[in-house]
Amino acid sequence: MLAVSSMKGIGPKTLALLNKINIHTIEDLVTHYPFRYELLKRTDLKTVDEQDKVIIDGKIESIPILLRFKGGLNKLNFRLVTPSGVVGVSIFNRAFLKSNLTIGTSVIAIGKYDRTKNVVTASDLKFGALSNEAKVEPVYHCTSGLSNKNLANYINGAIMLYGKEIPDYIPLKYLDKYNFSNKRTALSIVHNPPSMEKLKEATIRLKYEELFAFMFKINFLKEQNHKDKLGISRSIDFKELESFIKSLPFELTKDQEKATEEIIKDLNSKNRMNRLLQGDVGSGKTIVSVLAMYANYLSGYQSALMAPTEILATQHYNNIKELFKKTKVHIALLTGSMTKKEKQEIYDELANGKIDIVIGTHALIQEDVIYQNLGLVITDEQHRFGVNQRANLKNKGIKPDVLYMSATPIPRTYALTIYGDMDVSIIKEMPKGRRPVKTYVKSDAEIKEVLEMMHEELKQNHQIYVIAPLIEESENSDLTTVNELRDKMNLAFGSKYRIDIIHGKMASGAKDLIMQDFLQNKVNILISTTVIEVGVDVPNASMIVIFDANRFGLSTLHQLRGRVGRGEVESKCILIGSTDTDRLKIMEETNDGFLISEEDFKLRGHGDLFGTKQSGDMAFKIANVRQDYKILVQARDDSREYLLDTSNDKDPLKQTLMASINDN
Ligand code: ADP
Ligand code: MG
Repeated sequence: MLAVSSMKGIGPKTLALLNKINIHTIEDLVTHYPFRYELLKRTDLKTVDEQDKVIIDGKIESIPILLRFKGGLNKLNFRLVTPSGVVGVSIFNRAFLKSNLTIGTSVIAIGKYDRTKNVVTASDLKFGALSNEAKVEPVYHCTSGLSNKNLANYINGAIMLYGKEIPDYIPLKYLDKYNFSNKRTALSIVHNPPSMEKLKEATIRLKYEELFAFMFKINFLKEQNHKDKLGISRSIDFKELESFIKSLPFELTKDQEKATEEIIKDLNSKNRMNRLLQGDVGSGKTIVSVLAMYANYLSGYQSALMAPTEILATQHYNNIKELFKKTKVHIALLTGSMTKKEKQEIYDELANGKIDIVIGTHALIQEDVIYQNLGLVITDEQHRFGVNQRANLKNKGIKPDVLYMSATPIPRTYALTIYGDMDVSIIKEMPKGRRPVKTYVKSDAEIKEVLEMMHEELKQNHQIYVIAPLIEESENSDLTTVNELRDKMNLAFGSKYRIDIIHGKMASGAKDLIMQDFLQNKVNILISTTVIEVGVDVPNASMIVIFDANRFGLSTLHQLRGRVGRGEVESKCILIGSTDTDRLKIMEETNDGFLISEEDFKLRGHGDLFGTKQSGDMAFKIANVRQDYKILVQARDDSREYLLDTSNDKDPLKQTLMASINDN
């Protein structure tokens, strides 16, 4: 598309300002949509109260008088003939307008009305007149040196000059189907709304267009994934798989069974699996991944399971090793903190096929890891990995099946877009015997009460997690630290109970030892940063106390809370925070991770959860995935139909859409 610099009247100075607000092409300019609209409706001065905000319009009747004050202030006074009669208008610091405000000029003044003086003190003055209808005015994101009015002028100029060349991503068929206006008309309307109704229509049309183009890409990727055959057909020994399931220490829940079936079906099919397994914390996703890896093993391939932290990788390794004890599966752990020699040994065994299942951190996706026949890749706590890492992992070895596991349930609405190219399995049902965690929000002043609650728990030989946002003091923060809490807890409980700390800056060997001690109930209180946030599983831990809870996102708090409530005893979660308590109260009200993540989305947007690249993908200019869900679904279905209909493959628009997929 044409560069914005090619437009007449845009010199280097303006160009720099436009670039500053991310406008580079003519298309960027005309799709710089207003972020809100102002409703301009003429006020009847006879009915307003003193000091109400008023909007009046009329023709200037007297030459404006300029008054100058000390300190560079100035004021213009003139008389305006309005439909409500002649009114005085004053406006401060617009001396530069004097020469434009000639007798007979039509202006609109917005400001406060003083009835006794019959004067409007205007805060804003626009050229033009109001009709009897309300006028809708666009308000743009501007930058200093580039006013709302400047922008409106450039945008309207561009629509006039280039309106016909601006690409429309809606195929004719759907323009007809929905009776949508053409692009130029729609753009013209959103930038100069003649009425609210027309504005609404045009906005829907542009939202649909944006979502259509987006969903076309997603649908294309999804098709690609489905077409991407493994090139090897598996045969799984189902009898052996069945007997393995029977040997498990517990019975699978219905949802676990269903998810396992879906995954096995994917593995068995010639198509490559690209599946997301969603399930709240503690819903038992790990065992499903274990069954997938076993099936993969039985069909003769290697599996890799990737976890976001060493603690979690180590825990998975220990648990999974135990489950496979009676089988011939050869399983290994690979983490970043291992020595070069240890790593090399594992690399060798991965390359020669001696290892069947490898569990690790991102070390698993480093360049020098070569697999003999990697058939299945699983990433746990998927949202913690950047998009690039995932891409890397996918490309290792032959085209392996891919399973992502996430405990940050993404509301369906978002899942549809973000994971639109994936199939989704959901575990909703919790394993039997689980009792919901009771959550309490406490203020800093209630610390004594909190300590008493902790004491009750310790007396029953239950274990406690205590979480702080920081490890050590820092000058510019008075947040609670792990070190400070250790002193506090030692003072309160040190004589009777064992207290230890764990945090991200410790060597991984030391961390593992402490985790082992905690798991074996040799440590009663474990003080930690959020390194224990994901996945750690100690059923005897029945309480988690989180200091400065207001500092954490709701999803993080939910994850942390998921560390308890894993055994048969009733567990408690105490959130300490004196500010932001309304938000924290949501945690008291619900244990439903889906609901919580929905709240998190509302409060923080989606950027935090998915890393920058993906939030960039999600940055729509006019559509809003939450509010425009219905349009999104329509656009998804239509774009799929359009994609699959080969009769329009020669359509230039389809080729443009195809080409845009490789752009990013
Ligand atoms: P998450 O989905 O958070 O990863 P895990 O897989 O760690 O959850 O499972 C949490 C706990 O529940 C583990 O201790 C696991 O052994 C146990 N568990 C999983 N499935 C069942 C089941 N069907 N019945 C009983 N306990 C189960
Ligand atoms: Mg887990």
